[in-house]
Amino acid sequence: MAQIIDGLAVAARVRQQTAELVRKVKDETGVVPGLAVVLVGEDPASQSYVRMKEKDCAEVGIASFDYRRPADTSQEELNAIIAECNANPAVHGILVQFPLPGHLDEEAALALISPEKDADGLHPINMGRLVRGLPAARACTPWGVMRLLDEYGIDPSGMNAVVIGRSSIVGKPQALMLLERNATVTVCHSRTANLPAVCRQADILVAAVGRPKMVGADYIKPGAVVIDVGINRTDEGLVGDVDFDAVESIASAITPVPGGVGPMTRAMLVLNTAEAAARAAGVTR
Ligand code: NDP
Repeated sequence: MAQIIDGLAVAARVRQQTAELVRKVKDETGVVPGLAVVLVGEDPASQSYVRMKEKDCAEVGIASFDYRRPADTSQEELNAIIAECNANPAVHGILVQFPLPGHLDEEAALALISPEKDADGLHPINMGRLVRGLPAARACTPWGVMRLLDEYGIDPSGMNAVVIGRSSIVGKPQALMLLERNATVTVCHSRTANLPAVCRQADILVAAVGRPKMVGADYIKPGAVVIDVGINRTDEGLVGDVDFDAVESIASAITPVPGGVGPMTRAMLVLNTAEAAARAAGVTR
């Protein structure tokens, strides 16, 4: 049976590390790291994500600045909030919760965030720095996956890694991070031919698709490490993109859903914010 990769436990360690960094920044400079969370509209999932992020901030000692606006907020109003946060020295990280209502331009909002305050690591400058192998805030979900691999002593160097999904939030940055760590990376998507056969080449398989239990036993090379990023709400509750029961006996290690990658995304957000505050305050780690 595969080893279960415990995202809850690793995320707790990341929060503890973050709390230590927050304390160091406060002790050395008096600065309290701050995260601004911008939520437009009443999407229940987004509201619940934002609540959890604010709870995480409180746990590690980060001040949260809450900007909740109705669904009919204009682009100009949203832009003004982002500009205010960019200018506020008490704010070190800015998170605009996606999806935004349809009339708002997500790319424009993202591009307006100061790259130094990009808590999500999704700003085009920071994505560009990732492409170029330069230090920058990294996208929280794939960065959390890399941390899980590290914590379980899984070194991607020389391994075949297959990422299913090519979104800007998960798939693409995940592929680049695995490449940065010297994996040989294949990126799959909805037009990939013979997907199960390609996936069976993977020593590390990352599924970020959004299709419940799509990845079955026929996708898995014996002994592979399987990382399930998917979060799908179904009649049987929250399930991943991987058919956990079918894959567990073939893989060497696997993340569960829930309790795998999800908690890591939140933990990396507070770590990114604390690191941005440390950089801004000139605190070395
Ligand atoms: P997107 O919808 O943006 O991207 C999905 C990707 O999967 C696309 O690249 C798409 O291909 C590909 N895809 C869709 N269907 C197939 C198929 N049948 N075969 C192969 N590839 C396919 O989703 P996200 O990247 O934003 O999210 C992916 C999943 O991860 C979702 O379940 C989401 O909820 C979850 N998620 C979890 C997070 C966490 O914290 N654990 C954080 C973020 C997301 P194409 O490009 O060709 O359309």
